Amino acid sequence: MTDGLDGKTALVTGASRGIGRAIAIALATDGAEVAVNYNKSPERAYEVVDAIAKGGGSAFAVKADVGQEDEVLSMFEAIGDRLGGLDILINNAGIEMIGPLLESTNQDYDRLMDANLRGVFLCGREAIRRMVKQGRGGRVINISSDLGYLGREDFSLYCASKGAVLALTRSWAKEFAPDILVNAIAPGPIETDMLTPAHMPPEWIEKEKQIPLARLGQPEEVASVALFLAGPGATFVTGQTFGPNGGSVMP
Ligand code: NAP
Repeated sequence: MTDGLDGKTALVTGASRGIGRAIAIALATDGAEVAVNYNKSPERAYEVVDAIAKGGGSAFAVKADVGQEDEVLSMFEAIGDRLGGLDILINNAGIEMIGPLLESTNQDYDRLMDANLRGVFLCGREAIRRMVKQGRGGRVINISSDLGYLGREDFSLYCASKGAVLALTRSWAKEFAPDILVNAIAPGPIETDMLTPAHMPPEWIEKEKQIPLARLGQPEEVASVALFLAGPGATFVTGQTFGPNGGSVMP
């Protein structure tokens, strides 16, 4: 265990798997007490809590569909009871959706936007409300995607949700400066459940590797960036987007 986040409390949404899991473990290993949010995968969330406890850290699992306001409010109540406050929010929960625009339904739009954008709005609003009231600053880190800049055929709803997350990030950074620092991470292709043949055509996965670093990234390679943004080294950083993306975007 290191101790850069000793005494800090954190919520990581969508922490039962993939990138969120790696971020939860990284924050806890650095000393934060972590709320591990999940929606449909309780067993996997409890596995993350166990892994953190085995490493000497402190965490608990909390269920909420981030797109549902009543569930989000209950989650924040539980976090308040358990942790007494919140210093760090990682808005990570998200889904992907592949589909040509002309076949996309209003239900597809709602499902995607509820998870990827409404969830960021609801959790961000509630976390920042609490951070302002606490009066001890805070960090919000929103997980976007390189596709939020790049766009992609047959992926427009996902790309739109991730572009909007970047706009929320910059706006919140201005609105809540100088006390609350708000940044985004826009990963490139990362090897998680999202990028398996069950969720994505194999030829697309191969195409994802056609970037300068010629491989998929690992969740821990995103977590290290989140750890920096949450920690004592990032006190002069706000409104920025960081790209652990293997070179897919070079702004
Ligand atoms: P993943 O392995 O599919 O995990 C997604 C996580 O989000 C799971 O923990 C899932 O929880 C949770 N989740 C989904 N919908 C939710 C909801 N409505 N409420 C609460 N939790 C919800 O995906 P990942 O690759 O780690 O992606 C994490 C984030 O990174 C996403 O925002 C994604 O868009 C972004 N991203 C991923 C990549 C990539 O290549 N993998 C690239 C760029 C950006 P349950 O299983 O408990 O439901």
